[in-house]
Amino acid sequence: MSISGFLGSLPKGSRGEAALIGVPFDGTASFRAGARFGPDAIRVGSQSIETYSPFIDRDLEGRDYVDWGDLELAPGSAERMVTTVADTVAEVIAADMKPILLGGEHTVSLGAIKTLAAKYPDLALLQLDAHADFRDDYLGEKISHATVMRRAAEYLPAGSLFRFGVRAGTREELVGSGVELPLGHKGGMRNLEGLINAIPENAPIYVTLDLDFFDPSLMPGVGNPEPDGVTYREFIQLVRSLVWRKVVGFDVVELAPQYDPTGVSAIVAASAIRELMLCML
Ligand code: MN
Ligand code: MN
Repeated sequence: MSISGFLGSLPKGSRGEAALIGVPFDGTASFRAGARFGPDAIRVGSQSIETYSPFIDRDLEGRDYVDWGDLELAPGSAERMVTTVADTVAEVIAADMKPILLGGEHTVSLGAIKTLAAKYPDLALLQLDAHADFRDDYLGEKISHATVMRRAAEYLPAGSLFRFGVRAGTREELVGSGVELPLGHKGGMRNLEGLINAIPENAPIYVTLDLDFFDPSLMPGVGNPEPDGVTYREFIQLVRSLVWRKVVGFDVVELAPQYDPTGVSAIVAASAIRELMLCML
């Protein structure tokens, strides 16, 4: 199949409310790489889905959004990649559009969060992820998929990071991080509404969705799958609480399509992007 832009998008150079930016980078992958193939797999997967969401009764049809294409990146240099992403997001915001990143590994989020934190001093960061990504350094590297939320939190006031689905990390990342323990892993009940209500009501929200958030049965095409993940129904419940909030940007990262020969992971990723777009636009 030839690859056109994400579902119903306009080409770069057009005007729209949002811009999808592909960031095909997996230079810090520790276990199995491949997220550099994520953006195109998501675009292909999006050809399989509808613009209408029956879950929240909203439609992308009639909305204008742009597929910016993929950024050109030097392989291996995470710091330069973050700068390129930050600059591109600034360009997108200056054109009055909201940024959507298609990863790429999780480190790509840092560029968007850096730019948005400068624009919105009260930005809230909602991390949907199996992993804490809260190490101070990883094998000596300060900028890595395993440290990205620690670095992102440094751009934000204390208490601005909200995370859900986290079920893997060191004891220090999970218990000693100063971030509240992930809801749902004390007592078994997952309180999604409680999570969203904990975010200050008028705060601009950036959502970072690391696809290993989902259960590996639904999302095997990721670099570091973790059991006991979130179901799609739970995700929809979260989307329903988010739809009334002020989402100012988001990313969907860590799809490594070659680990899922069925292609389902990419289609689920595209569906999740549709829902988040419908929350934001
Ligand atoms: Mn993860
Ligand atoms: Mn992550």
